[in-house]
Amino acid sequence: MPRAFITGITGQDGGYLAEQLQAEGVEVHGMVRADGGDAVRELLSRAPGVVLHQGDLGDSDRFGELVADIRPDEIYNLAAISSVAYSWQEPVLTARLSGVAAAAIFEAAWRLQENTSRRVACLQPSSAEIFGHAAVSPQDESTPVRPVSPYGAAKAFAHHMAGVYRGRGLHVATCILFNHESPRRPLVFVTRKITAAAARISVEGSGVIRLGNLEARRDWGWAPDYVDAMVRAVRCETAGDYVVATGETHSVADFAQAALRRAGLGDRWRDHIEVDPEFLRPAEAPTLVGDAGKAQRELGWAPTVRFEEVVGRMVDHDMELLHGRASVAQ
Ligand code: NAP
Repeated sequence: MPRAFITGITGQDGGYLAEQLQAEGVEVHGMVRADGGDAVRELLSRAPGVVLHQGDLGDSDRFGELVADIRPDEIYNLAAISSVAYSWQEPVLTARLSGVAAAAIFEAAWRLQENTSRRVACLQPSSAEIFGHAAVSPQDESTPVRPVSPYGAAKAFAHHMAGVYRGRGLHVATCILFNHESPRRPLVFVTRKITAAAARISVEGSGVIRLGNLEARRDWGWAPDYVDAMVRAVRCETAGDYVVATGETHSVADFAQAALRRAGLGDRWRDHIEVDPEFLRPAEAPTLVGDAGKAQRELGWAPTVRFEEVVGRMVDHDMELLHGRASVAQ
C-alpha cells in the first residue's frame, strides 16, 4: 500500500486530500500542531484512520525526523500561512512558514530518496499570487513570477526551490493553484466571510457585509477538484508545474451578489454591501485568471464545479449551520 505524508492536513485542502487518498487505499500520515484541538477532531471525524504526528512548520529538524520515520512515497506540503491579508501583518513569519519551510521538506525528501534508493514524490501547492501584477492574462506556467504580497513572495521562493530540487533529481511537482473554495474555507477568507454573512442576513433580515476592494477579480474553483489535480501531478511520470484554474474570472462584488442572491436577497443585494478601507491591502493583484490547458492535456484534469455552484454550495452550508442542520465537519 502506498504511503502519503501530508503537512497542513487540518486545512481545507488537507482534509479533502486525506479523504481522497484513504478512499484509494493509501496509508495517510499527517503533521498537526500540538494545539490542533477542534481542527484535529474534525479531521478525525471525516477521515478516521489517518495517522497523526506532532510537528510545526517552523521546526525543520522535525520534518527530517518525520520523513525519515514515516518513509512516505508521496509528500504533500500543504501547510502554510495561506492568507494574503495575514501575510501583510506577519511578513517575516510568512516568509519562514510559506517559503523557507518548503526547502526543508524537499531536503528531507531528497535525503530519504538518497538513503533508500526509491522514488519519493513531492507536491508543492504554489499560488496564483506568485504572478502578482501579471503582464499577461490568462496566466499559465510561462507567466513571469512577479509577486506583490508577502504571501506571494514566500510562495514564489518555495516554487523556485521546487524547481531547484527537481533539477537535483527529486520528483517535485507544483500545482499553481488559483483560488479554490468550499464550505470548509476558514472564515478569515473573504469568500467564506461573504457566504456566512449572506446566510446570517437572510435569517435575521438585516445586516451588511464590509469588504475591501470589490473590483479585485479572481478565478474561483471547487477545492476537491484542486486536490484531485495535486494527486494527478504527484503521480505523473515526469514532475512539472501545472496551473490549476477554471479560466473564468469574477469580481469580489460578483461573489457577494451571487451569495446574497442564493440566500434569497436577490434584488436588494447591493444594500447589504459596504466598502470599508480597513479591508483594503497595501498592494493587490488586480486580476488573476488561469489557463489550465497543460493540466488538462498532461494530467487529464478539468474543473467539475463552476462559480455559481461553488458559491451556492457554500451559502447552502452556512444556512444549514445557522439552522443547526449541519455540523462544521459536514
Ligand atoms: P488552510 O485551510 O489555511 O490550511 C493551512 C494548514 O497549514 C492548516 O492545516 C494549518 O494548521 C497548517 N499550518 C499553519 N501554520 C502551521 C505551522 N506553523 N505548523 C504546522 N502547520 C501549520 O489552507 P488551504 O486552503 O488548505 O491551502 C493548502 C495549501 O494550498 C496552502 O499551502 C496554500 O497556501 C495553498 N494554496 C491555497 C489556495 C486556496 O485558494 N485555498 C490557493 C493557492 C494556494 P492548523 O489547523 O493547526 O492551523
